[in-house]
Amino acid sequence: MRFAVLQLTGCAGCEVSLLNAGDELNLANLAYMPLLVSAHDVPEDVDVLLVTGGIRTDEDLLKLRDSAGKVKKIIAVGTCAISGGVAGLGDRHDIREHFLAQANKGRVPRMLPKCSPIDTEVEVDNYLPGCPPVPELYIKLLNDPQSLKTTSIVCKECGRKKPKEIRPDTLTAGIHKDIDPELCLVKQGQLCVGTSTRNGCGAICPRAGFPCVGCRGPSNNLIEKDADAWFESLISIFRRMTDIDPVLISEALKSPHFALFLFQFSDYADTELEKRPKEKVL
Ligand code: SF4
Ligand code: SF4
Repeated sequence: MRFAVLQLTGCAGCEVSLLNAGDELNLANLAYMPLLVSAHDVPEDVDVLLVTGGIRTDEDLLKLRDSAGKVKKIIAVGTCAISGGVAGLGDRHDIREHFLAQANKGRVPRMLPKCSPIDTEVEVDNYLPGCPPVPELYIKLLNDPQSLKTTSIVCKECGRKKPKEIRPDTLTAGIHKDIDPELCLVKQGQLCVGTSTRNGCGAICPRAGFPCVGCRGPSNNLIEKDADAWFESLISIFRRMTDIDPVLISEALKSPHFALFLFQFSDYADTELEKRPKEKVL
């Protein structure tokens, strides 16, 4: 299967993660990827086009439209391609002003009025959320796509214990060196959102002692609902598992620390987009 990677505006983390798959991927099948393969454009004989990054500039838009007609299948990869992510930060007023000032000097492509997910322009066959998707997800995607079907949440891959009798009443922030390696991070007062986030990443963050920030996006139960449902689910789970004030949970979820990842959900509420059908989300 010949595949190509079209990089729109993003941070290139999705490409680096793909390359971290190493020998598990047959890079002889990689037809185009500006970070790695020198080629002018997406060639005609491509089976699968992975699109990373959001539609931030006029150049992104042209590249995406031009490439979409040449390939058999399009997969939106990573938060930026799916809902804006890092690229979407440019919609913030002060950042936009900065880039427009640079654009006036002719250093950057012309910015579009708003950053958009790629399915606002082209038909997308599948979505692979993650910021970035971990290498194991790329390996499954390109070698055995059927194995990617998931119906579960990050907690299932995490395996930390959730004893009912432990109910923290304080939200703790930041990195803690004295984290219990076996106890659920929520039970240690951490803002872990693995309870409502789709699995597939191997729970790499909570297993290493860092709370899940939801980069894989909402679980199947929530993906076809709006952002409010996702927030309500999280708040109600925290109420069931802890005695922490729900207002504090709500405020923390909207804090800058989480804002980047929660674009994934807030964009669902802010736009007129059709909800992504769960069958398409890997
Ligand atoms: S630490 Fe997070 S991912 Fe792990 S069980 Fe607890 S809530 Fe779920
Ligand atoms: S544990 Fe959460 S934040 Fe970390 S990679 Fe998985 S979904 Fe993303």
